[in-house]
Amino acid sequence: MLGKMMTQPLTISALIEHAGKYHHDTIVSSVETTGEIEHSNWGTVAGNARRLAAALDRLGLSQGTRCGTIAWNNRRHLEIYFGVAGAGYVCHTLNPRLKPEQLIYIIDHAEDEVLFIDATFVPAVAKLRAHLPKLRHVVLMGPPNDEAAAAIEGLLFYDTLLEAESDTYIWPQLDENTPSSLCYTSGTTGNPKGVLYSHRSTVLHTLGGNQPDGLAVAARDSVLAVVPMFHVNAWGVPYIAASVGAKLVLPGPNLDGESLVRLIETEEVTLALGVPTIWMGLLQALAKTGSKIPSLERTVVGGSALPTIMIPTFRDTYGVELIHAWGMTETSPLGTLNQLLQKHQTLSDAEKGAIREGQGRPPFGVELRIVDEAGAPLAEDGNTQGNLQIRGHWIVDTYFGQEQPALTKDGWFDTGDVATIDPDGYMIIRDRSKDIIKSGGEWISTVELENVAMSHPGVAQAAAIAARHPKWDERPVLVVVKSDDTLTEVELLKHYDGKVASWQVPDAVVFVDALPLGGTGKVQKNKLRESYGEMLL
Ligand code: ADP
Repeated sequence: MLGKMMTQPLTISALIEHAGKYHHDTIVSSVETTGEIEHSNWGTVAGNARRLAAALDRLGLSQGTRCGTIAWNNRRHLEIYFGVAGAGYVCHTLNPRLKPEQLIYIIDHAEDEVLFIDATFVPAVAKLRAHLPKLRHVVLMGPPNDEAAAAIEGLLFYDTLLEAESDTYIWPQLDENTPSSLCYTSGTTGNPKGVLYSHRSTVLHTLGGNQPDGLAVAARDSVLAVVPMFHVNAWGVPYIAASVGAKLVLPGPNLDGESLVRLIETEEVTLALGVPTIWMGLLQALAKTGSKIPSLERTVVGGSALPTIMIPTFRDTYGVELIHAWGMTETSPLGTLNQLLQKHQTLSDAEKGAIREGQGRPPFGVELRIVDEAGAPLAEDGNTQGNLQIRGHWIVDTYFGQEQPALTKDGWFDTGDVATIDPDGYMIIRDRSKDIIKSGGEWISTVELENVAMSHPGVAQAAAIAARHPKWDERPVLVVVKSDDTLTEVELLKHYDGKVASWQVPDAVVFVDALPLGGTGKVQKNKLRESYGEMLL
């Protein structure tokens, strides 16, 4: 016997229909490529998503066709998220900061037939065009533009395509396992791999990731997605905002601290999400402008380890709660979020802060474990370190274009991170397995060394890497951007006294003007290892 309730497929079109109907006049703010701010609303976005779906059908695409985007966070990109997937095609967001040969590899591998681009990327795409034989249409995300049309043969214009359609389009009833979007990992080792999300995995990630102890986005929120829409679907924020009808603020190309402060003030942002480097920039701009960003209640920080110093700064100076989250392209991305339990409520701010430095706990829908090299589960005692594995409703099974599942024999995905898990399920990333420093058979966490460095007032940014060593195999070297010119190596190394075991103190400090950042704002440690990995030999 089966239950006797309605069954409806979990689809992305249902999300945008909900937002368009029940939150039609809730604002969607979008900073355009020109820098101007545009105010639209969910009703308009939903109508445009339907028009776009009709226009794509008219282009004669077949179901499952990949439609790429090279674009900032803006209103048209949001409509593409819903219009493309809702119509049964696949929205493939590309990272514009990739090198031309990487973009060509990924567009070709994904077999993108349509490519939506912002005006910023016309010159770059004009150069790529001849190398992309499978691509049928390039669409400029805006009104007709003669200069762009001259640069790219056959260029189509988004606004013209939509004007030709009506918003009475009816979404197809898709199977919930239909693919909806595609994201490639950054490929720091080997070629990038594609993760093909489904309508079902996306909707479950939306519901599971937005529980009260998750992102907890509500209709009353004004949500600023600083995390790019090409970085794992902006961590699911567009879908989550649609599901609850929150005001959504899309910052366009200007992600520097001062632009963000202005946007938070004018759009009365209550919740903002992004990687740590973004928030470091914001804190510096706040210190300079003196703004207190009173509307901001929470920021979600993830993508790389949170410099621990940020928690008290946000809390004490700006009254902002900082929520640490962990995830990856393969996990949609929300894998853990850090919120406190009932038993923690009576702790002091400092004690609460200490718990919140970790990456947090899995929401319902995903499970974690740590295992040893042989794959045997390890104790979840908060001390034992092991390889972090995950399984759940929005975790990759098989990479796009591959035959073999990417899972262990017993069905878990190995994250490549090294972590501890405590009895309450709080997980702490100790390192990425390829970054961790193995000194004389003992492990040294680069995350811990960086946190100590960052707690020195003269340090703006720090990255610890493994340098090859004749006696110990590997020893830590610290690469630092100073915020105070007078800081010396001796002084910085002295700062480690009593904070880590003496054998974990870095062997050397290298001062640099800037750290190499990847397309999503993370420090590229492989580049640093190339430059400084041999300096102790
Ligand atoms: P990549 O960094 O390879 O481009 P992802 O964006 O998928 O690809 O990043 C996933 C990785 O980022 C994780 O495996 C983890 O190492 C790191 N990461 C993500 N969030 C955090 C966090 N909060 N703390 C520490 N590391 C994190």
